[in-house]
Amino acid sequence: MIADFIQRLPKAELHLHLEGSVDAPTLVELSQRHPTPLPAQNNRYQPDPLGGELLTLEKVQRLYDYSNFFGFLMAFKAVTERLRTPEDYELITHNLCRALAAQNVLHAEVYVSVGIIHWRGGVFAPLFEGMERGRKRAEKDFGTSLLWLFDAVRNFGVEEAARVVETTVALRDRQLKAQGRTSIAGFGIGGDEARGPAGDFREVYARARDAGLRLTVHAGESAGAESVWAALNIGAERIGHGLHAVDDPELMEHLAESQIPIEVCVSSNLRTGCCPSLELHPVKRMFDAGLMVTLNTDDPTMFHTTLDHEYRIAHEAFGFTKDQLRELARNSFEASFLPAEEKVRFLELCDRT
Ligand SMILES: [Zn+2]
Repeated sequence: MIADFIQRLPKAELHLHLEGSVDAPTLVELSQRHPTPLPAQNNRYQPDPLGGELLTLEKVQRLYDYSNFFGFLMAFKAVTERLRTPEDYELITHNLCRALAAQNVLHAEVYVSVGIIHWRGGVFAPLFEGMERGRKRAEKDFGTSLLWLFDAVRNFGVEEAARVVETTVALRDRQLKAQGRTSIAGFGIGGDEARGPAGDFREVYARARDAGLRLTVHAGESAGAESVWAALNIGAERIGHGLHAVDDPELMEHLAESQIPIEVCVSSNLRTGCCPSLELHPVKRMFDAGLMVTLNTDDPTMFHTTLDHEYRIAHEAFGFTKDQLRELARNSFEASFLPAEEKVRFLELCDRT
């Protein structure tokens, strides 16, 4: 059975937001921990209509049952509003790894929105300690491998993004000094492409690259192929979404030749309306054109999906064969920011499935 095969297939997930992985029972628990709204001075980012409201499972299910991008933003805000302490971040990291392990996702590269925490006036370092406790506990409990990507919000502007890079470098260096290795892989920008074109961030990316960070850019999700070109021009090593790359044959050729990985998120694109229907989604066209395609969930609980589900969609809606699904799984490890020897270990597991 294909569902069994997909479940058994060792997989990596490369485009996954920590805040978008909070399931309904966990959000209820967080709302009980924080039954008051955030103080106004810490609330620059989120006037959340549900601020301080005690959430029930039914309320969270309604909150996650939106049908447009605004509804998604409201859900995202309701979650970030309730993420306040290191213990909160430890809890959601550990829960995320449990959910990944249940699907045989052996490695994940997880975005955390450092940009939003800064914007709220928060200090990220103690929260990161909580994330790290959750990650290390999960490594012991479930064997999950996890690397962090620190995310800036492009529409908050270039200076804010530069601050996120400095936070990333400082925490990475602190880890290297203390442990001789780091769980922080790199840096990326997300948010509104139209209000923060990648070209504006050229210097920020140059600084991040010089500091040894790996680089991603959300591009071609809500904006067109030109946004993907701009991401490549500032040094993106992977493209988040890349949905609209198919509109530009020259870009498709370049992506196929360079094998720059594309972090495709089918369900996300449908739920946000960036792609109008499943039939129109270009994931198979990208794959057939020779692009380095990976499958991802983006914000799994908010988009009602899992990585297994994304692989099943690929098979059922787009006719990916078993061998092609295995190739997608291989791509996910190949395109990761893991060291070569670890990639090889995971790739061998794929080949044996
Ligand atoms: Zn994303």
